Amino acid sequence: MKTLQLPSGRNIPILGQGTWRMGEKASQKQAEIDALQLGLDLGMSLIDTAEMYGEGGAEKIVAEAISGRREEVYLVSKFYPDNASYQGVIQAGDRSLSRLKTDYLDLYLLHWRGSVPLSETLAGLQQLKQAGKILDYGVSNFDTEDMEEAESLSGGQEIVTNQVLYNLLRRGIEWDLLPWCRQRQIPIMAYSPIEQRAFVNNPQLGDLAAKHKATSTQIALSWLLHQQGIISIPKATNRDHVQENRAALEIKLTREDLQELDRAFKPPSRKMSLAMR
Ligand code: NAP
Repeated sequence: MKTLQLPSGRNIPILGQGTWRMGEKASQKQAEIDALQLGLDLGMSLIDTAEMYGEGGAEKIVAEAISGRREEVYLVSKFYPDNASYQGVIQAGDRSLSRLKTDYLDLYLLHWRGSVPLSETLAGLQQLKQAGKILDYGVSNFDTEDMEEAESLSGGQEIVTNQVLYNLLRRGIEWDLLPWCRQRQIPIMAYSPIEQRAFVNNPQLGDLAAKHKATSTQIALSWLLHQQGIISIPKATNRDHVQENRAALEIKLTREDLQELDRAFKPPSRKMSLAMR
């Protein structure tokens, strides 16, 4: 799997697996574990989860999926803004580690900004890092001014990524956030990379899909995989979807293909507030 280098010097895979909506229904449990394991078998070793998903349920699914193979996984979790105080983040981190049945996270993210001062959150994250419980930390749903503020604080320069909504239909970050991050070699982790199925049979992607013998969703994912400094984390419980997402990595879009996509899905022409879900 191709990787990007984080500002910390560690590497992160460019294609991983999301887990939102996992761990919510007992009837889906085995299918979810199987899907994540298939993804690992295919090299999609980054798994993104959060204490929020299924209120801890998704982290427990991940624990079962990675049992016995922790070292091959790049494990990401996120904490609620309500748990972002100095003590709160340390305790939330311990709870996530316990649900995930591991003793470290590769990456730990503030899920979105709340009312706790960022300086306090960063101090808690530094403490977790010093204790070896997390290797790196970052943020999620931060717009450019949030990143600027964080960068000015102690520990803020160790933020290694910002996980935000980004896909062909949601290109707002290209106006300023993405260039800001690229300038600092901070990769963006694109969530909802396939816009929660919105590209399925999308007529604007039909010709390119036919040309590359791919699905429209694969073309949308491939577009992200062609962007510099971007990590994508599609979520799939269906095994065919897992296979298709992995296969999107093999699609080579030409310069003309990319220009065609720019015409169909226009980049922003002004600052847009950060989209979230
Ligand atoms: P997504 O990955 O864009 O879409 C997931 C949906 O697409 C599922 O319904 C899945 O169905 C379907 N799907 C997957 N692969 C497909 C394929 N090849 N063809 C057709 N359909 C396919 O949406 P997401 O779950 O919102 O985002 C991905 C991950 O990003 C999340 O799981 C989570 O880890 C993270 N996230 C983070 C935030 C944040 O605030 N930081 C917010 C949202 C998401 P099946 O499951 O049935 O296969």
